[in-house]
Amino acid sequence: MTTTKKIKCNENGNFFIEIKGKESEIINAINYLKKEGIGLAQSNISININRNKCVNCGACTAVCEASALNMDANWHIQVDSKKCLTCKSCKRACPTRAISYI
Ligand code: SF4
Ligand code: SF4
Repeated sequence: MTTTKKIKCNENGNFFIEIKGKESEIINAINYLKKEGIGLAQSNISININRNKCVNCGACTAVCEASALNMDANWHIQVDSKKCLTCKSCKRACPTRAISYI
């Protein structure tokens, strides 16, 4: 399920964005956001799955909108950290508390 909340004028909030493009385009995008008063922080958190706790139920894959979590051919959970947006939805969805961030 996707939860969407608008951040209105005179309100504060956080959101994740991915900026793709040439280096010059990314710099332009960052400068534009800063000019609009949007503070930026680069995410350098990595997701970690405790394989001793994970039961490969797949619940985390259902909530990952970035497709960073997938089941492999043997129905074992796989993580593509490069796609992860560190939204932490998977951590909330995991019934065995196998997910943490490092
Ligand atoms: S933190 Fe968010 S983006 Fe990253 S793996 Fe979990 S659900 Fe996907
Ligand atoms: S929700 Fe938790 S237990 Fe289920 S596959 Fe994901 S990490 Fe493993």
